[in-house]
Amino acid sequence: MATTKKDIRALSKEQLREFFEKQGDKAFRGNQVYEWLWQKGAHSFDDMTNVSIETRQMLEDNFVINHIKVDTMQRSNDGTIKNAVRLHDGLIVESVLIPTKTRTTACVSSQVGCSLDCKFCATARLKRMRNLNPDEIYDQVVAIDNESKLYFKRPLSNIVFMGMGEPLMNYNNVIKAIDKITSEEGLGMSPKRITVSTSGVPKMIKKMADDGVKFNLAISLHSAIDEVRTTIMPFNDNFPLEDLREALEYWYAKTKSKISYEYVVWNGINDTQKDIDALVKFCKYVPCKVNIIEYNPIDDGEFQQASPEALQNYIDCLEKNRIVVNVRRSRGKDIDAACGQLANKS
Ligand code: SAH
Repeated sequence: MATTKKDIRALSKEQLREFFEKQGDKAFRGNQVYEWLWQKGAHSFDDMTNVSIETRQMLEDNFVINHIKVDTMQRSNDGTIKNAVRLHDGLIVESVLIPTKTRTTACVSSQVGCSLDCKFCATARLKRMRNLNPDEIYDQVVAIDNESKLYFKRPLSNIVFMGMGEPLMNYNNVIKAIDKITSEEGLGMSPKRITVSTSGVPKMIKKMADDGVKFNLAISLHSAIDEVRTTIMPFNDNFPLEDLREALEYWYAKTKSKISYEYVVWNGINDTQKDIDALVKFCKYVPCKVNIIEYNPIDDGEFQQASPEALQNYIDCLEKNRIVVNVRRSRGKDIDAACGQLANKS
């Protein structure tokens, strides 16, 4: 239902304390309510049993608690789980739980739709509808943490911002969500277990470096040749590789944190020696590793995964140049949960 009341979870602890003080109550009440909202996951003011009924009513009159709701949950035959998450305004985003023998990784969304226009990605076809709020990002993580405990008997171990959306186009909210995820009042996770993936927005990469963030950075590179990259990722026209390179050098100088390049190899697009040479050269600018991702078809057949020989050629050349390369097998393909397949189909 449409409401003009403010989402109480948009308030920081300090703001909540101030609110109570203004109401003539004790600032400490703000701490109690904050704890209910963030540590105890209260969905309604009535849950807050150590708060008086009058105060609960006053909160009810002023605020709403917007919680996400897992609308549908699909399980892949490889164990991957995809959640279609309904937001308070009815829009849907998706998040994915990826289990391995030793880890559970949550792949979370940062926007409804996406600001960018990568030709090979299903999310890009949705266009950006809105940014997610910090609590909407945080709630996706909590939902996956709960599923991990339920189905795999262990808490979530890693988070990747590789769901729907471009995290650096919703930077402030992503940072607030990560602050909550890493704080002892939230999930207390180490930032080293969190990776933010971006198509590469140079000025935001520099800002992150200036802000001293402690999480990992992944770049969806896919080509180290401007003309090729612009064909498949048209925004590259505005943020050419030279600017990206400069931003990454800046990032490394400030953070000393290695970069991961995400890379898909497609037939007839980036499968020649020239493409490989350009990647090898790009990898020498800043300490990095390359993750070769399997292509997940999104329908029209315009893009096709390159041959095993082409992939092997990439691997051999990178390794010969002492660049670490991993090949990432796709997970959850049967439920459209793999990279680039998130598009509200469920
Ligand atoms: N916008 C951010 C976050 C999305 S991450 C970014 O671009 O990094 C999603 C990852 O999956 C990106 O590396 C993206 O390039 C990749 N991807 C998109 N579509 C894909 C597809 N169909 N198959 C495989 N990987 C894909």
